Parts: sequence; structure tokens; C-alpha cells
Amino acid sequence: MNQLAKTDQSQWMITCEGLNKYFGELHVLKDVSIKVKQGEVLCILGPSGSGKSTFIRTLNGIESINSGTITVDQKKLTHKQKDIDAIRKETGMVFQQFNLFPHMTIKQNIMLSPAVVRKWSKVKAEQKAESLLKRVGIYEQANKFPSQLSGGQQQRVAIARALAMEPKVMLFDEPTSALDPEMIKEVLTVIKELAQTGITMLVVTHEMNFAREVADRVVLFDEGCIVEMGTPENLFERPQHERTKLFLSKIL
Ligand code: ADP
Ligand code: MG
Repeated sequence: MNQLAKTDQSQWMITCEGLNKYFGELHVLKDVSIKVKQGEVLCILGPSGSGKSTFIRTLNGIESINSGTITVDQKKLTHKQKDIDAIRKETGMVFQQFNLFPHMTIKQNIMLSPAVVRKWSKVKAEQKAESLLKRVGIYEQANKFPSQLSGGQQQRVAIARALAMEPKVMLFDEPTSALDPEMIKEVLTVIKELAQTGITMLVVTHEMNFAREVADRVVLFDEGCIVEMGTPENLFERPQHERTKLFLSKIL
């Protein structure tokens, strides 16, 4: 029995129970509960303002919660900085606006966190940065500054930078929403390849084809609540809720 309970727990990389979040009077997350398995790719859909960003930002403590519990890789997220730091080490985050450090080269951007947080030697951090730059296809840009790169290239740097910490979870918040159409594909391709490596990923996206193809499960947020959650096939082909049908009719 104990053994079973332990096995059950360990398959969950993320568990959230009863999350509530307010910005002043505004109730932004309403009793959100969700569990994500190790290696799972979860795509988060929903209209603008439905709480998607706030939700994924609570998972690594960028946003605090008013009530509920969050556990990442068996570590409970509390208000203590030590717990927040421990979870941030394991969760890479990629934002809509790439958020690269403008005064550092591409390679320096990638080396910074492993050197400072993981205390890697310069040589180790540099080797890691170079191998990641090759993986995301921008090795030639290593010594340039972010402003010299296209949006698609900058976002690939941001992905490499998050991966440099060897996180167990990757959180993406609309990673292609700020990109010109011709650059969306190159970034989605990198994210797709990453999904195949078995890392746990949460991706807020409006790219329905991507969600269909890559997600193990999709979840629809609306007004701070989870409306529906299921396999892409079920959610897209056989939505159960009127709200899901309405959302899909507008976006597909
Ligand atoms: P989404 O990512 O789904 O578009 P958000 O999580 O960004 O939604 O926002 C949910 C709601 O919370 C929106 O009404 C938004 O205006 C509000 N909100 C988000 N961040 C803040 C903040 N820092 N202060 C006050 N209100 C916020
Ligand atoms: Mg958002």
C-alpha cells in the first residue's frame, strides 16, 4: 500500500490543488487543480485574460497564490525564498517577449544562470551553451548581441538559455505570439523536438495545429477556471462543454 502510494506520487511532476489568486478585487484563478505527469506535454488554451499566464507564473513562484498548494518534482512551493529557488532551478521559462539580456552576447546569455546558480565552471557552461546553440540551430550567432538577431532567432536563444539549467519542467507562455508569421515555424519546430526528449512541458499557445500534434493533453481556461481538459482528439473533435465549443468555433 505504501509502496503504491509512493509510486503514484512520483509519476506527477506538477500537482496544483485549489489554486486561488487575486489581483486586488479581481479573482484571477478560481480553484484551479491540475496534475501533470512526468514527461507530459500539456497545452493551455483560452481567451485573453482567462488567467493562463498567471497560472503558469504561479508554478515557479513568479506570481504568489492566495490559497492552494503547488508541488513541483515532489517539492512544495511555499513563500520561503529557499523553496522558490529550489523550484526555479528545475523550471525553465520562456516568455512571449524573449527577455534576453541586451548587453550580453548570445553565448553569455546562455552561460549566465548555469555559472551563477549551478556554479558550473566557465568551461562547462561554455560547452553547454555551444551544444545548445547547435541544437537550436544558431551556433553561428554565438558572439552577436540579441538586437542583431531576428525574433525567431532570439526566441530560440531564450529556449536554449532556459535549457542550459537542465530543468525538469519547461514553461512556455505564448512563445510564438510576438513573432512574424515566417518565424513561427522555426520556433515551433524547436519546441516540438524538445517535446520528444521526454521533458515535462506546459505550453500556453494559440497555435491549435501545434497543440493537436504535440500535446498529450490540452486544457481550456476561461475566466480563471478550467473549463475542460483532455486529449487533443477529445477536446478538439468531441468537446463536452458549450464554452469549449464556442472557443473552438472562434479560433479554428
Ligand atoms: P491570459 O494570460 O490568459 O491572457 P492573464 O493571466 O495575463 O491572462 O490575466 C488574467 C487577468 O488578470 C486579466 O484580467 C489581467 O488583466 C489580470 N492581471 C494580470 N496580471 C495582473 C497584475 N499584475 N495586476 C493586476 N491584474 C493583472
Ligand atoms: Mg497571457
